[in-house]
Amino acid sequence: MAGEPTVGVLALQGDVREHLAALGAAGARAVPVRRVGELAAVDGLVLPGGESTTIFKLARLFGLLEPLREAVADGLPVYGSCAGMIMLADKILDPRSGQETFGGIDMIVRRNAFGRQNESFEASFAMTGVPGAPVDGVFIRAPWVESVGAGAEVLATYDGHVVAVRQGSALATSFHPELTGDHRVHALFTEMVRERPGGSSR
Ligand code: GLN
Repeated sequence: MAGEPTVGVLALQGDVREHLAALGAAGARAVPVRRVGELAAVDGLVLPGGESTTIFKLARLFGLLEPLREAVADGLPVYGSCAGMIMLADKILDPRSGQETFGGIDMIVRRNAFGRQNESFEASFAMTGVPGAPVDGVFIRAPWVESVGAGAEVLATYDGHVVAVRQGSALATSFHPELTGDHRVHALFTEMVRERPGGSSR
């Protein structure tokens, strides 16, 4: 794909503005996505941090649940941070009653695994696909990945727990790089969007 890819940020709930800014800094044309028509117009999609139960409910309400599942299954590049990671997991270990995900990554996540809001922290660690200095991540009621299937690649661990995973054109992190000013994870995702095999020529 030549030029700037158009990358959407699912704008139902969560830290949408921060992702839009980080994507812009990483060389993408970043746009909010709230409707099916807007979803059809993007080359890739970010699922922000926030509250996965709320994002799930609003996605269902806005008629986005099935279109999003189909888009991800179809290979639309997606990146989920924190709540977004939960939404990309094929399975949640401890879902709230009735909570579902979009799926896309063969992994099982544990919600709030790193503790409550007041146990939020910042950490740095090496991440495959992000060369150079360690990545800075903010963890806020963050999930971790309990287990990954054969098709999923672990990109980073922190404190013995898996915190970044990639499967094909789907990327997920437990942490929020969008809150740190370190835009390299968004640059990695923007590159994945550019490299999508047979990617959009929009
Ligand atoms: N604990 C939240 C959830 O279950 C995620 C927190 C976050 O995105 N910062 O959705």
